Amino acid sequence: MQIPGHIDPVPLPAKITPREDGRADLTGLSQLEIRDIFSAAGQDEKQAKLRSKQVFHWLYHRGVTDFAEMTDLGKQLRSWMDERFVVGRPEIVEAHVSNDGTRKWLLRSADGQDYEMVFIPDADRGTLCISSQVGCTLNCRFCHTGTMRLVRNLTPGEIVGQVMLARDALGEWPKGAMDALEENESVTSYESDGRLLTNIVLMGMGEPLYNFENVRDAMKVVMDSSGLALSRRRITLSTSGVVPMIARVGEEINVNLAISLHAVNKETRDEIVPLNRKYSIEELLQACADYPGASNSRRITFEYVMLKDKNDSDQDARELVNLLRQYDLPAKVNLIPFNPWPGSDYECSEPERIKAFSKIIFDAGISAPVRTPRGRDIMAACGQLKSASEKKSRAELDRLAEEKQAALG
Ligand code: SAH
Ligand code: SF4
Repeated sequence: MQIPGHIDPVPLPAKITPREDGRADLTGLSQLEIRDIFSAAGQDEKQAKLRSKQVFHWLYHRGVTDFAEMTDLGKQLRSWMDERFVVGRPEIVEAHVSNDGTRKWLLRSADGQDYEMVFIPDADRGTLCISSQVGCTLNCRFCHTGTMRLVRNLTPGEIVGQVMLARDALGEWPKGAMDALEENESVTSYESDGRLLTNIVLMGMGEPLYNFENVRDAMKVVMDSSGLALSRRRITLSTSGVVPMIARVGEEINVNLAISLHAVNKETRDEIVPLNRKYSIEELLQACADYPGASNSRRITFEYVMLKDKNDSDQDARELVNLLRQYDLPAKVNLIPFNPWPGSDYECSEPERIKAFSKIIFDAGISAPVRTPRGRDIMAACGQLKSASEKKSRAELDRLAEEKQAALG
């Protein structure tokens, strides 16, 4: 082995910054990036390739966070890695389990930024809803995250880290000897049933198409068949309509697309999704029509939040059908009952109104299920947990200030 035993600095991919203790977090790196680290440390091409394959497997197939457990790597190499690297996870600030089984986490990055992740178990699938940014630059009027300012984009490591953490929490890493597993288990059997986490949706905090490159790199790692191995068909990226980026999603990751449409005319959409002033409904639907791979078996989801007397009339439903037909879109519509938050401007449409709206779309031959609200008891709506936590800490600070005053007085 050509790797020296003492601590030499190793050139790192630009997107990882060393932590305070000088070690760098490998989570989120691709096999190629891990290989580059070994090459830069002086290993020959063949060695670097083999080592990166082994490390990648331990990281993303087995979920190992301790180099000592990577038993097919030499002892010297393991301690060399331990001196320079960590396999990190986001810090858990809060973890909640709803009485309907929904789980929600408030996570914290190494530089103290909080973001949310939700897991929604269903009979036939388990969906992890992950964040792409801390906050959001867009200000959709019904969205609580929209009231926060954007703090920063999440890195690929922080995005992949959410999936890794969920696997940890659900106890879903394969156990046993790696060799035995590799002999008996094909990639397909690894992907097979019985897993809790089967799907990923980029519907947490942030606009994924304003952080596309990090989201893309993270999803490539998540889709790699020798690691987490989630198929692109089980990943859905939701956008509020960043039109110029939609083609790149198709070309570079080709995951399922969801569009936060929410309104069918300019006036209403301008109000509730202000990005509409920049990219019109027509441009957005044309980008959807051009999306590669959109077909009847792989339809584009149109999300539509039901806001009382704002976007929920029969006329709106008919116009929605017209638009989807006009652009010949293989579509399904997801009707989302509005989840109110303190200070929000809107109310949720009445259940009867939502039913009538749904029926018009169904009758036109387009699927339009009403999404059941999940985890309301644990504030599972986008952005709510983070601000509750911030409020709590402000209240806590006030209490401490009062105590201090009292002590001084
Ligand atoms: N920024 C992206 C992805 C995150 S938002 C986007 O806008 O598509 C994901 C979904 O959560 C959006 O469809 C949005 O409509 C929905 N959402 C946000 N706040 C909501 C609320 N208070 N009630 C119901 N749905 C909400
Ligand atoms: Fe941002 Fe999406 Fe919320 Fe709009 S709905 S403010 S784009 S997170």
